Amino acid sequence: MKNTMLIDTHCHLNFSAYKDDFDDVEKRTLDAGMRIINPGSQNTTSKRAIDLAQKYPGKMFAAVALHPIHLHETYVDEVEIPFKSREENFDPAYYDSLAQEKGVVAIGECGIDYFHVPEGVEEVEFKNKQKEVFLKHIELASKRNLPMILHCRPSKQEPQGAYRDMFAILQHAGYSRGVVHCFISDVEIARMFLEAGFMISFTGIITFPNAKSLLDVVKFVPLDRLMVETDAPYLAPQQFRGKRNEPLYVKYVAEKVAEVKGVGYEDIERQTTANAIRFFNLDAGNPS
Ligand SMILES: [Zn+2]
Repeated sequence: MKNTMLIDTHCHLNFSAYKDDFDDVEKRTLDAGMRIINPGSQNTTSKRAIDLAQKYPGKMFAAVALHPIHLHETYVDEVEIPFKSREENFDPAYYDSLAQEKGVVAIGECGIDYFHVPEGVEEVEFKNKQKEVFLKHIELASKRNLPMILHCRPSKQEPQGAYRDMFAILQHAGYSRGVVHCFISDVEIARMFLEAGFMISFTGIITFPNAKSLLDVVKFVPLDRLMVETDAPYLAPQQFRGKRNEPLYVKYVAEKVAEVKGVGYEDIERQTTANAIRFFNLDAGNPS
């Protein structure tokens, strides 16, 4: 019996990328003693995340939200799996009902995305819409007393802009129970979120050879404020770059954090797992 286990705090086994071999992926993930959180990105994937959480209680957990890229129809050029996002109007009552389902541990992923610009929509219009919908998610998290899984992707031209806007909205709403998922910004932005009480989470991007400056952020974030994730099916670590990602590969993220911080792998495993259990208030059972 292992005393520790890794928790992939952000993956999407609820996505269609796993429709052909879900059973195999699920089996090797859970056989390894792992626990995972599947955030939704719209109504269908949020519902699917709940179904999985209820089928695998204590092993899979769900988060529900409408991702900012689904506010408009946009072509999303993810390296591994390009797709066209489907437009959805945010229905607060529907998401509120999902948020009260068993197995839901967070509101997410939601936030601000200035990277994917919808065609034929004015910049001010899509930014305002993102802000408005994000605020409704904050209200929901606050009402249901849940932490938030925050998505933030800046434009190439303004690498800090989306982070600063998202931070301002959260500060204005007075909410700081959140994890900035897939963090790709700098130490200055990390400090701003940490000082306000947020957690920071890293993906396999930290294993990419061109991620040198991001490693300064990994060094900077205190161990008790850091979580690891895959964001599978996207962002496979360097060893599997360009292929479909999966929760097992979160160990490469943990290994990189251990290397950068100069501490043992087991320490990273233990600490990031404790952080996830505390932050998401997980009832993660006994790892086998
Ligand atoms: Zn995601």
